[in-house]
Amino acid sequence: MTAEIVSVGTELLLGQIVDTHAPVMARLLAECGISCTRRTTIGDNWDRLVGSLKEALDRSDLVVTIGGLGPTVDDLTRDGIAAALDDKLIRVPEYEAKLRDFFGARNIEWNPSTARQADRPECGRMVDNPNGTAPGLICEKNGKVVIALPGPKGEFDPMARGPVREYLEHLQGGGVIHSRVLRIVGMGESSVETRVRPLMDGENPTVAPYAQTGEVHLRLTAKAKDREEGERMLDPVEAEIRSLLGNHVYGINEQVLESAVIDLLVSHSQTVAVAESMTGGLLGARLSASPGSSRAFLGGAIVYTVKAKTELGVDENLIKTAGPVSAEVAKALAEATRTRYEATYGIAITGNAGPAPDIDGKPIGLTYISIATPTGTQVSEHRYRGIREDIRHRATQEALAQLRTQLL
Ligand code: ATP
Repeated sequence: MTAEIVSVGTELLLGQIVDTHAPVMARLLAECGISCTRRTTIGDNWDRLVGSLKEALDRSDLVVTIGGLGPTVDDLTRDGIAAALDDKLIRVPEYEAKLRDFFGARNIEWNPSTARQADRPECGRMVDNPNGTAPGLICEKNGKVVIALPGPKGEFDPMARGPVREYLEHLQGGGVIHSRVLRIVGMGESSVETRVRPLMDGENPTVAPYAQTGEVHLRLTAKAKDREEGERMLDPVEAEIRSLLGNHVYGINEQVLESAVIDLLVSHSQTVAVAESMTGGLLGARLSASPGSSRAFLGGAIVYTVKAKTELGVDENLIKTAGPVSAEVAKALAEATRTRYEATYGIAITGNAGPAPDIDGKPIGLTYISIATPTGTQVSEHRYRGIREDIRHRATQEALAQLRTQLL
C-alpha cells in the first residue's frame, strides 16, 4: 500500500510556519507498514488543492491531508476532498447540534460558516476531535482512502496517534517499516557508499547513505511483521556494515558523537578540557550536552582574544610571532588547558570562520585543532569551506572525532 501526505496552508508555503506534522505522519505510516511515496505542500487555493488531491489519488492508495478543516473561507480541505473524490458533501445534523451547544455554552456568537465543520463527504465518516471543533475525516471510495486531520498541534497529535493510527493498522493488516540509522565519522559519503555498495542493492532490508555536516548516516530499513522481526532482519546487515567500516561507525539512531566520546572517556576513567577560540564554546556546549557528562568533561576557556589566550597561559610573544591562527598557538592552548584543568586531554581550536577574508593573512576556513595527551600533543590543519556556522560546527566535529580516535 502506498500513501501520500498533502499539507495544506498558504502559511506553510510562505515559510511562516514549519510543517512539523508531516514528518510525524510519515513516521506513523512507516510504523504501520505503509510506504509514504510523496509529500506535497499546497496553499489555500481551490484549483491547486483539488488538482493535487486528484493527482495524489491517481498515484496512491491512501492520501492524508493536514490542515484546512476549520470554519473560515480559506479552509478548503473538506470541500476539496469531496470534489477530488467526486462525492457529495452532506451536513451531519447531530454534529451541527453539538457545535451549536459548544458555542452556546461558551457564549460565542454562532456564525453560519461554523456549520461547515459539520459537513462530511457522503463516503466518509468523522473522526472525533476531543480538543477542537473540526472533526477529522476518513473517506473510502473506489478502493482509495482519504484521511483528513486538522492543523493545530493539540488537535492533530492525539487524533493522528490515536484513532487514525488504529485505522491505519487495521487497513494494512499488520506489518511495519522499521529503520535503524548507523552514524559514521571520519569518512566521506562517497567512500562510505563505495564500501557498502553491494549491500545497497538489497530490497529488504534496504541500505541508503545520507550526508550530514561532518558525518555520514546509513539508514537501514526493513519491512517486517513487527518491530522485533524488523530488528532481527537489521542485525546481520549492521554487523556486515560494521565489518566493512570498522571503527568509523560511532553510534546508532539518536546517539550523537559527543555522547559517544563522553561514554568512551567515562569507560577509560579519563577526562577532557577545552580551549576554544574560533568555536567560542561550541565544543564545550556539545561535550556538556549529554546527561552525566560531568564525569568526563571538566570545563574549559573561551579564549577569543589575545588577552584571553595569555590569561590561560600562552606566551604573548608566541601569539605575536606565530599569529593567533597557527599550529603553535593551538598546541600551546591545548597544553595550557590540559594543565589548568588537570585533565587527561586538552583540546584547542583556533581558526578563521569568516566572513572577514583573512585574519593576519590566514584565509577563511583555515583551522588548527590540537589535542594534548599524556604522551604528547598533536596538531592538525584543516581548510574548511562553507558559511561560518558550518565551519565552526565542522571544527568541533573534527575535534571530537580525533579525541575518539585517541580513545580507541
Ligand atoms: P483551524 O480550526 O484552527 O482553522 P485547521 O484544520 O483549518 O484548523 P489550519 O487553519 O490549516 O488548520 O492551521 C491552523 C494552525 O495549525 C496553523 O496556523 C499552524 O499553527 C498549525 N498547523 C497547520 N498545519 C500545520 C503543519 N503541517 N505543521 C505544523 N503546524 C501546522
